[in-house]
Amino acid sequence: MQIFLVGGAVRDQLLKLPIRDRDWVVVGSTPEEMERQGFTRIDANFPVFFHPKTGEEYALARTENKSASGHKGFTIHAGPEITLAEDLRRRDLTINAIAKDIDGKLIDPMDGQRDLADRCLRHVSPAFIEDPLRVLRVARFAARLAPRGFRVAAETLALMQTMSKDGELGTLSRERIWQETRRALDEPSATTYFQLLHQCDALKTVFPERLNTQTPADDLEGALAALKHAQALSTKASIRFSVLLAAIALKNEVTEVKLICNQLRAPARYRELAELVITVYPLITNLRHADQLLALLEKLDAFRRSSRFRDFLIAATALAATQPTREPRRVIMLEQAFLKASRVRRPATGKTHDSGIRFSERFRQLRIEAIEAL
Ligand code: ATP
Ligand code: MG
Repeated sequence: MQIFLVGGAVRDQLLKLPIRDRDWVVVGSTPEEMERQGFTRIDANFPVFFHPKTGEEYALARTENKSASGHKGFTIHAGPEITLAEDLRRRDLTINAIAKDIDGKLIDPMDGQRDLADRCLRHVSPAFIEDPLRVLRVARFAARLAPRGFRVAAETLALMQTMSKDGELGTLSRERIWQETRRALDEPSATTYFQLLHQCDALKTVFPERLNTQTPADDLEGALAALKHAQALSTKASIRFSVLLAAIALKNEVTEVKLICNQLRAPARYRELAELVITVYPLITNLRHADQLLALLEKLDAFRRSSRFRDFLIAATALAATQPTREPRRVIMLEQAFLKASRVRRPATGKTHDSGIRFSERFRQLRIEAIEAL
C-alpha cells in the first residue's frame, strides 16, 4: 500500500501557512489490512481510520456516486484498485486536491499549484454541485484566503449560485451550518464568508429568519461594516458573532437575537454575549451621570465577570464605530468608569445585617465618587 499526505496540509504547506491537521490517503489497501496494522475505523459508513500512534486520519482512496440528495447522499466505493488520481477527482477545490508522497513529490493532476499561484478557488469538476456543504466550505476558505489575494473563480461562483437556487442547501443540518459558520468567524476575513453567501443568495439558509431575500441591502451592508470593525479589533469568534447579530437584529430586539441563535444552534457562550450586547449596548446612549455608569456596570456584572465585560467593550466599540449616533466616546467613558470603580477598596464589613446593608451602600457610594472624579 502507498500513503500520501492530502488536502489542507499540502495546500497550507505550499502557502507557507501553519498546518492545522494532517489528512492522509491510502492507496491499494483494504479495511481488513488497515485494522490488522492497528488502525481503528472512525465511521462504519466511511473507510476512514485513526492512526494507532498519531491519531491522524487515514482514508482509503475512494470514489463517490451521487445516490440521494444532500451532503451525505453518496454511494462510496473504496477498493485497492482505486487510484490516487481517482480519489483526488472527488475533492472540492483544485487547491485541496494536491497529494504529496513520502519522498515529498507532489502529485497534482487537477493543477492545484497553478490555482495556488493564481490565487484562485476553483472547483475540481462539475460533480462539485453534488454536495451542498461545498458552498459553505468555499465561502469559508475565501474568508481565510481573501487577505492573501484569493478570489472564487467565476465558474465556481456560478455553480454555487445554481446550488443555492436549487434548494440543495436546505438539506444541510443546522449543526453542520453552525460548524462552518463558527469556523468562518475565526478566519481573518469573516465578512467575506457572509458576502459570498449573499452573492449566491445562500444567506437565507444560514440566517433563515432575518437575512432572507427581503433583507434590505443597506441592513446587510451596515452589519458587515460592523463585523469588519470587530474582526480588526478581535480574533474571538464570539465577539464577532455578537456584533454581527446586534447589527442585524431589527431595532436591536433581543427576541430576534434569541431566535437567530436558536435557529443557528449557537452554543451558550455565543448566545450569552450576543444577548448581553443587544440588551445593554443601546443603553449606552443615555449614559451621563456616575450613578448611571455604575448601574450599567452592575447590569453587565462587570466587576465579577471582567473578561466577559472586556468582550462586551470590544463589541460595543465595533458597533459604535459604525453607528456614530451612539457616540463612541460613551464606550470609552464606560471603560474608564470601570477602571476607576475597580480600584476602590472595600470598606470594613460590619457584623450585623443592618451594618451589612450600610456596608454595600457605602461601597457603592465610594465607587460613584470615584467615577465622578473622572
Ligand atoms: P482545514 O484547514 O479547514 O482542515 P482542509 O482542506 O484540510 O481544510 P478538511 O475538512 O480537513 O479540509 O478536509 C480534507 C480534504 O478532504 C479537503 O482538503 C478536500 O480535499 C476533501 N474534502 C473535505 N470535505 C469535502 C467535501 N465536502 N467535498 C469534497 N472534498 C472534500
Ligand atoms: Mg484538514
